Amino acid sequence: MGSVTIINPSTGEKIDEYSRITAVEASQKVKQANTAYQAWKNTSFEQRSKLMYALGDEFENNKEMYAQMATREMGKTIGQSRKEIEKCAWISRFYAEHAEEFLSDKPVQTEAQKSYVNFSPMGVVLAVMPWNFPFYQVIRFAAPAVMAGNTGILKHASNIQGCAFALEEAFRKAGFPEGVFTNLNISAGDVKGIIENPDVVAVTLTGSDAAGRSVASIAGANLKKTVMELGGSDAYLVLEDADLEEATSMATLGRLQNNGQTCIAAKRFIVLDGIYDKFLELFSKKMEAAKMGDPMDEATYYGPLARIDLREELHEQVEKSISQGARLVTGGSIPEGKGAYYPATVLADVKPGMEAFDNELFGPVASVIRAKDEEHAVVLANSSQFGLGSGVLTTNTEHGEKLARQLEAGSSYVNKLVVSDPRLPFGGIKNSGYGRELSSYGIHEFVNIKSIWIA
Ligand code: NAP
Repeated sequence: MGSVTIINPSTGEKIDEYSRITAVEASQKVKQANTAYQAWKNTSFEQRSKLMYALGDEFENNKEMYAQMATREMGKTIGQSRKEIEKCAWISRFYAEHAEEFLSDKPVQTEAQKSYVNFSPMGVVLAVMPWNFPFYQVIRFAAPAVMAGNTGILKHASNIQGCAFALEEAFRKAGFPEGVFTNLNISAGDVKGIIENPDVVAVTLTGSDAAGRSVASIAGANLKKTVMELGGSDAYLVLEDADLEEATSMATLGRLQNNGQTCIAAKRFIVLDGIYDKFLELFSKKMEAAKMGDPMDEATYYGPLARIDLREELHEQVEKSISQGARLVTGGSIPEGKGAYYPATVLADVKPGMEAFDNELFGPVASVIRAKDEEHAVVLANSSQFGLGSGVLTTNTEHGEKLARQLEAGSSYVNKLVVSDPRLPFGGIKNSGYGRELSSYGIHEFVNIKSIWIA
């Protein structure tokens, strides 16, 4: 129980306060989601699509309202918030259009008169979600899950409850029946009881590996399917032939977009020896030149971190890395004044065993790592507990592709920052999690893959 206070990370001012629901109220909402499921699972793709298209329209028609809400609650720049809402519209429409094709029966030739694979919905799916893309992360789960005939319940990050309730309202406005998508304003501690509820059939979590371990172990004890989208420390190899102007501009954007708080942000830059000093010089200048400030101001390149406690954590990681031998090139100190601001920071000469190499730094802090040759660069990239995104920057794309295939990650891009795209699967390996979201792979995570045999 209790309540949760929403603070604007740019000003430190209180925005709102929401009462948590009780365990009894939460189980009533789960029950309602299950009742909704009993009817929803029998609806046609055509009926579901109509509503999912309406959800896409809802995001498009009210983009500014949703975008301002995201910026106010977690501090991303207003331009990036607008792009996030556009992406929500895209994903809603993508699954409205393709769900039927992804989930149609797949005939299989056997000795049977007829045999095929059928994909049926599973029931109520719980989503535990982070604050860094308040709308997008949720739609990435909900659009495919709901189009497949499931119903969704959301435990969203505490610091963005306004966005969480706005999502529930968006489904309502699009015309979805009550209970198809529900926000549970509960604490992390109350998640266990929801997972244990017999009406909940599966759980998906996007967040830190610590939260993932906890939720996956509870789900495991209850034999419930999980998908885990966890942290990352994406490596980008910068090869000798890379266009350094382009590579450093890309690196700056990669490290600073979403105020440095993206799971697939470029975090470790593994630079070949011959261009290391030049890369570092150009990159540090661009990081210094990027304008930090009010995320509502269109001219701002990056805003504050989402919470003061996250800034403390990040600063400790920077200090620890320096004490372990990393060289601070720029940034690295907490500015005076209101808000959870942290400056663009470059740590050079980062090596395995240092905090900035081994762990995720969730903020505008880049680790620059020297590689003696390409083979060494690949070894360094793969010497990580994480495996989410990765990239190669080079003018020889064919060669870049060869190296990209050697990187241990869920995505490897050549000459482009990793982005999630509904047409391609998204997810990680190692401590970045398991399972996939988006594309046809994502919609197959929460369905019963059923064999039918007619003798
Ligand atoms: P977080 O602290 O793990 O929180 C994520 C969600 O899990 C929140 O709703 C949080 O609730 C809840 N939670 C935390 N501990 C829990 C527990 N023990 N049991 C049940 N629920 C728990 O992560 P965050 O700070 O919001 O997000 C940053 C992390 O997410 C980074 O590591 C980032 O890389 C990762 N991420 C991954 C992806 C991906 O697709 N792979 C995408 C985005 C972010 P409260 O807010 O109430 O604590």
